[in-house]
Amino acid sequence: MQKSLEPETYDLLRQSIKDFVAKEVLPIASKMDQADEFPVELFRKMGKMGFLGVTIPEKYGGSGMDYRAQAIIEEELGYASASLALSYGAHSNLCLDNLYRNGSEFIRENYVPKLASGEWIGSLGLTEPSSGTDALAMKTRAEIDGGDYILSGSKTFITNAPYADLVLTYARTGEAYSAFVVLTSEKGFSRGNKFDKMGMRGSPTGEIFFDSIKLGNEKIIGEPGKGKDIIFSGLNSERVILSFIFVGVSRRALELALKYATERKQSGKFLYEFQLIEEKLAYMYTRYQTSKLLAEKALDNLDKDPFDSLGAAAAIMHASEASEYIAREAIQILGGLGYVKDSEVERLLRDAILGQIGAGTTEIRKHLISTALVKKYKREDKIPNL
Ligand SMILES: Cc1cc2nc3c(=O)[nH]c(=O)nc-3n(C[C@H](O)[C@H](O)[C@H](O)COP(=O)(O)OP(=O)(O)OC[C@H]3O[C@@H](n4cnc5c(N)ncnc54)[C@H](O)[C@@H]3O)c2cc1C
Repeated sequence: MQKSLEPETYDLLRQSIKDFVAKEVLPIASKMDQADEFPVELFRKMGKMGFLGVTIPEKYGGSGMDYRAQAIIEEELGYASASLALSYGAHSNLCLDNLYRNGSEFIRENYVPKLASGEWIGSLGLTEPSSGTDALAMKTRAEIDGGDYILSGSKTFITNAPYADLVLTYARTGEAYSAFVVLTSEKGFSRGNKFDKMGMRGSPTGEIFFDSIKLGNEKIIGEPGKGKDIIFSGLNSERVILSFIFVGVSRRALELALKYATERKQSGKFLYEFQLIEEKLAYMYTRYQTSKLLAEKALDNLDKDPFDSLGAAAAIMHASEASEYIAREAIQILGGLGYVKDSEVERLLRDAILGQIGAGTTEIRKHLISTALVKKYKREDKIPNL
């Protein structure tokens, strides 16, 4: 991925995604949620506009930018529709970036451009019914058969699975793990029903099944037996990039709360004039700012130290907890109106809750933060200067 673009390039990108969001996403965000409908053609359009492959070099059909550009897109999508932002993250970061970073020249030439343009929709399949947090306990296996692999097993809770053309997935190969490209057109591939979720509705989530799928060598990502490295290579960038969805959710919730507090009067005063509402606004703003700052800090560190889980885990833990808090307080400020389905803040809270479950849970982030801190402390024998 390319680095160090001029600040104006990012400003232009932010303006262009803001324009897109205002025109195309905000008007349908509520319908996406209520009908639980994925806007597949709009998603493909994001490919044509260069957003889906923003980190991919132009040679492979991308826009030749970097993670900062992807974070900007995530934040602006998250502001309007966290579910579209989640599907974007699964397609562009979890699947496409991973495929480009670790894939062979064959994979880069044949699959990367199709995902970057939006012609194909991508997923990453790691979670299984009996292995979520403990992902390495997966049961899916790929057995060598002559020059091919035979893949059998299933994955669950896979974002975009109901629409995916390509799934980047992992399987046990002997005692080790390997990463594979599975085209959903392969014989032996099937999908389960779309899950009916409390939030992130419109971002389709589902199960997939591999029934003795025959995969040639060209479908292996990276070296056989090195799948564990590939899993870990993507986790920090996933945490950092997805943090920005929740920064966007927080900004939207704060904005809606401010709008209402400055319009609504009770007992002859605007809501913002009551001290208890002032306190809410002050905490909401502070937590929004700290989540943005932590996410920015983790983003800066991503190129320098892609394996530093401390900042990445802290960024997503704080951004997701903050968005839940801010959305909840926004509901409180809107009073009864905040509790009805038509109010956007009600959706924001339901969407924010996913932040503590997807991309590793809050509990695991706490474990990662504490483990990394203790390790640094033991090495330097003092509180690390972070
Ligand atoms: C909307 C949505 C989209 C998703 N998209 C994808 C996707 O695209 N691809 C994909 O592969 N997966 C995806 N997931 C799956 C997601 O990554 C898992 O749900 C998550 O990793 C947790 O796994 P689990 O649900 O099996 O919970 P479990 O691992 O069973 O955990 C249940 C509870 O126990 C706690 N717990 C578990 N182990 C420990 C431990 N060691 N220490 C402390 N507490 C622990 C957890 O924190 C949690 O609170 C998605 C999930 C959702 C809900």
